[in-house]
Amino acid sequence: MSRFAIETKTGWSVRVRGTVQGVGFRPTVYKLAQEFGITGSIWNDGAGVAIEAYGNPVTLSQFVKAIAENAPPLAVIEEIASSPLAKLEGNDLPSQFVICKSNSSAVNTNISPDAATCQACIEDIFSPSGRRFRYPFTNCTNCGPRLSIIEAIPYDRANTSMAKFAMCAQCQKEYDDPSDRRFHAQPNACHLCGPKAWLEDKAGHAVKSESVTVVDAVAAAAVLVQSGKIVAIKGLGGFHLACDATNAEAVKQLRQRKLRFDKPFALMARDINMIRKYCSVSAAELALLQNHKAAIVLLTKHNSTGSDSEILPKAIAPNQSHFGFMLPYTPLHHLLLDELDRPIVLTSGNVSDEPQCINNEEAKERLGTIADFFLLHNRDIINRLDDSVIRFGHNSVTVVRRARGYAPAPIVLPEGFAAAPEILAMGGELKNTFCLLKGRRAMLSQHMGDLEDYKTYQDYQHNLKLYNDCFDGKPERIAIDLHPEYLSSKLGRKLSEQKNIAIDQIQHHHAHIASCLADNDWPLEAGPVLGVALDGLGFGLDQTFWGGEFLLADYSSFERLATFKPVAMLGGTQAIREPWRNTYAHLLAAMGWQSYKQDYDKLELTHYFEGKPLAAFNSMLSSKTGTPPASSCGRLFDAVAAAIGICRDYTSYEGQAAIEMEAMVDLDVLASESEDLAYPFVIAALDENGLPYLEPLPMWQAILGDLKHKTPPATMATRFHKGLAKAVFLMVEKLSVRNDSRWLSTVALSGGVFQNQILLTLVKANLEQAGYKVLVHNQVPANDGGIALGQAVIAAAKQIQEKERDHVSWHTWAGR
Ligand SMILES: [Zn+2]
Ligand SMILES: [Zn+2]
Repeated sequence: MSRFAIETKTGWSVRVRGTVQGVGFRPTVYKLAQEFGITGSIWNDGAGVAIEAYGNPVTLSQFVKAIAENAPPLAVIEEIASSPLAKLEGNDLPSQFVICKSNSSAVNTNISPDAATCQACIEDIFSPSGRRFRYPFTNCTNCGPRLSIIEAIPYDRANTSMAKFAMCAQCQKEYDDPSDRRFHAQPNACHLCGPKAWLEDKAGHAVKSESVTVVDAVAAAAVLVQSGKIVAIKGLGGFHLACDATNAEAVKQLRQRKLRFDKPFALMARDINMIRKYCSVSAAELALLQNHKAAIVLLTKHNSTGSDSEILPKAIAPNQSHFGFMLPYTPLHHLLLDELDRPIVLTSGNVSDEPQCINNEEAKERLGTIADFFLLHNRDIINRLDDSVIRFGHNSVTVVRRARGYAPAPIVLPEGFAAAPEILAMGGELKNTFCLLKGRRAMLSQHMGDLEDYKTYQDYQHNLKLYNDCFDGKPERIAIDLHPEYLSSKLGRKLSEQKNIAIDQIQHHHAHIASCLADNDWPLEAGPVLGVALDGLGFGLDQTFWGGEFLLADYSSFERLATFKPVAMLGGTQAIREPWRNTYAHLLAAMGWQSYKQDYDKLELTHYFEGKPLAAFNSMLSSKTGTPPASSCGRLFDAVAAAIGICRDYTSYEGQAAIEMEAMVDLDVLASESEDLAYPFVIAALDENGLPYLEPLPMWQAILGDLKHKTPPATMATRFHKGLAKAVFLMVEKLSVRNDSRWLSTVALSGGVFQNQILLTLVKANLEQAGYKVLVHNQVPANDGGIALGQAVIAAAKQIQEKERDHVSWHTWAGR
């Protein structure tokens, strides 16, 4: 090398932050260093990855650029920063690039979510000559289990459920070789040294694969599924129950045994062509299906009259316009589905609303009355992770359930939150998640479910501890929902007392809107928006139930500007399970029974009501017992759905009536019918406080008129969606204009009702047409699965502003 070349060499220190450990980052950088002729070293530490690189300045900057552009698939780079190192003389320059041992205090960095099997590993399991041919636990640094197998940090094999498997010499060699795809792949394993799968019948007897003349347990399970059996399958984040999706009898049996009557079943198919037989798949949806997050993607069913489409039994997704499909995401799934020429039902392995089973003994005990066979394995699932559910609409992704593949990846907070104190937000009650806010990152936990279920509550406590340990949690404040009876609020209070940590109570719908702001990277100081939070129920500042709210909100505060009409919930929570109760209460509130009877005596709906104990309800209403008022959009959906004959008697899962009404919308009517036929609302003012609200009386008159004329329910569902969207728009217009000019131009839409794509699309289109900027959710659910993030950012914003106020007042004082 010429003297000139040595002299122009310089050293850079490169710092990489984000999800950069346990994802094959160091070998990737190692390879790039070889390519660019860079020398130096790389290691993991508490802040992420650190690199010392030596080369000439032009090559160094190309090298850093290449790192950003060639990051391995599972890495998420939040920041790359370079700074010059002290000058080294020619002789002191390192002669090669080396990977150093991790600094053991590596705690302050991200744990990567579980990832679907990569293409190279799929090729391994289907290569007859390879040593991983048909090995169901094949993985590498680009794929495989992560959060689901972690017991503690740092993320090393010894701290995962792979600890009990000692690597064979060949696996160890891969693990130690920086040029190998399996370099430091913690769950690395093979037939010889790793976990094994086996098949049992429900009596616990091993089913020998010879008895069904196939090569192994997975192939035998495929034969059983194909023959109509229900097989419990231990997966990545929990057990599933599988059956042949084209076999109506098997699907029916599964529903009956699982006590799951209406809620749709998820499906898995071998490949995209198989999914296309049943659903339309856009390019964007295809990308979501093939993403390493491998979520269940909700896809529009083909019209069953289409010539080249096939149909699946109605019982898979009753009264739905969508199927939830996923592609195989573990080697075990790939091997199983490869044997099958049809899709399978792959629904969570649980009874009714309990959490998914995760261990073999528990599964055999609890699923013994459901499954005929069990496909088990001995790699323990440490942390339960449900399948995530997503949907593509209005040009962006909507996350319905955020779990496997997403958690615990952090959500990077908007500008202004750098000074946030550490916060633990406890979440809500239904669809619970919690959130640990640390630095500018929010770790939103995986979906756990309804805390009222004891096992779910146990899972909640387990995960709180896990996240606290893994992210070195030292919260300075705890944020809880205002509802005094939520189990999450109670636990938050207990933790606050035990650990002497200050607590913040956050209003439910303010949390929804704040989560939407954070989801849209809305800066802390960007000012207030008009938040429209439409959901089921949340505790209001006035101690009543809210659920259809128009809020002037920023991160730290809100004002309730308008609402939906508060209507009694007959029998309290019973009104959630029996939608007709809401119809009756709404009609009483809108027009009174006498006047209703006078005009609509002949309606079938009237006869239906007359079969109910109306006198008892009337006395409950007059004595105001068991009839809490709720300004809930969810209950309005229930009331309308029941009136037009959807889920009138009862619902078997939360939001069912609204979901089925959305599925019923007639897209032709939606596109072509005159706006004049949309059901109208008027804006009135509440007697008690003068607050503007949406009065549905004219809507009810229109619905009852349509019932008289025997208008098709699909047309009615459509007119309701259009009318409600218009009403929301008109209310926004009223609230955002003062003295003839628009003083609010940004609208944030949140709350579970906005998972309704038709309503969301209509509201958004109306607003955008009128020039509003509209914020909708994308990485975080609009439903209660997102409120923990909202709670966390609200508590953080309050603290940041308080500190600023203190600072300002100190300066004022000091200046005197
Ligand atoms: Zn792989
Ligand atoms: Zn091995």
